[in-house]
Amino acid sequence: MRNTIKRLAVLGSTGSIGQQTLEVVRALPHQFHIVGLAAGRNIDLLAKQVAEFKPRFVYCHEKKAHLGNIEYELLPLEDIARHPDVDTVVIATSGKSGLSPTLAAVKAGKNVALANKESLVTAGEIITSEAKLNAARILPIDSEHSAIWQCLHGERQKTAKIILTASGGPFRHYSTAQLNEVTAKQALKHPSWQMGKKVTIDSATLMNKGLEVIEAHWLFDMPYENIRVLIHPQSIIHSMVEFIDGSIKAQLSYPDMRLPIQYALSYPERWPNPQLPRLDWSTINSLTFEQPDLDTFPCLGLAIEAGRKGGTYPAVLCAADEVAVELFLSQRIKFVDIANLVQQALEQHQAIAHPALEEIVAADAWARQKVLQFISGDNPCFSP
Ligand code: MG
Repeated sequence: MRNTIKRLAVLGSTGSIGQQTLEVVRALPHQFHIVGLAAGRNIDLLAKQVAEFKPRFVYCHEKKAHLGNIEYELLPLEDIARHPDVDTVVIATSGKSGLSPTLAAVKAGKNVALANKESLVTAGEIITSEAKLNAARILPIDSEHSAIWQCLHGERQKTAKIILTASGGPFRHYSTAQLNEVTAKQALKHPSWQMGKKVTIDSATLMNKGLEVIEAHWLFDMPYENIRVLIHPQSIIHSMVEFIDGSIKAQLSYPDMRLPIQYALSYPERWPNPQLPRLDWSTINSLTFEQPDLDTFPCLGLAIEAGRKGGTYPAVLCAADEVAVELFLSQRIKFVDIANLVQQALEQHQAIAHPALEEIVAADAWARQKVLQFISGDNPCFSP
């Protein structure tokens, strides 16, 4: 094991990935020093984390929150992300709030352990070119991208195809008629992964897999036609890479986000962590695969199309989906309306090719407003 301590900032420390990152830190206390913590509105948990890890820098969305008597400096997210005392920034915020700190960290040449999907999906071109320019390393935390990254190790130039696996979510094999009746409570019960609410709903619609296709395109510089999605309900194979000679490598493990988080932080090393569960082959009878049902789960196709078209389309996709998921969770629309709203927003959007950051932000704001417009007033499609 290396004895250089990694100085971490965890942005989004009270969310699902943030908490699991801190579990890895707790399990391997000699590897890390927490320099910064940042959270949105979960003040009680942030206060506990601040008391435990005593970070020098803190960001809290609630500016006047009292986080106990520990001394710390309140800084904006971007300033924590680019601070010279931080080596590795874990971006575990959800939604569009990840974009600006990701860009700040990349511009400062940091190691960026990236769990936030939206930043690469909406601004993949800007982030990857800035990363190259500033010798920043993007270390994927998402289990699928971590798997691909591990499979590609040492032979990146010989890749023919990326095969992203998907559990299929809780509604695999449902008909559209059945999907029309599902509730938020049912959608929040994911069969194999413990995740935050937004990504759990996105897994149920398969939007999550669509966003991951776009992420994979940017992370691994892979054309869309060479990225496939394969349903694998057991979530044991986290993704695969097919090489030019037809050989396929897969990465397997028990589905637990702490492993990809730890790999992003330990890279290029691997560290033993007794707390990580091992696969028990005596309980695994079969690994199965099926093709995704694009007709019943239109979000996957919408996302891939938005990715292929590029420009500001992915920003509209993400923003429309974020608002639609919130509307579904607050029971204002049906599950199937998530895809309908995203589709309408994409259809009405006047896209800009190779957008600047401000144009991405503007497209995001446009899409949010548009979705709210669709469901307000007398649109009969979206009355609850
Ligand atoms: Mg994933």
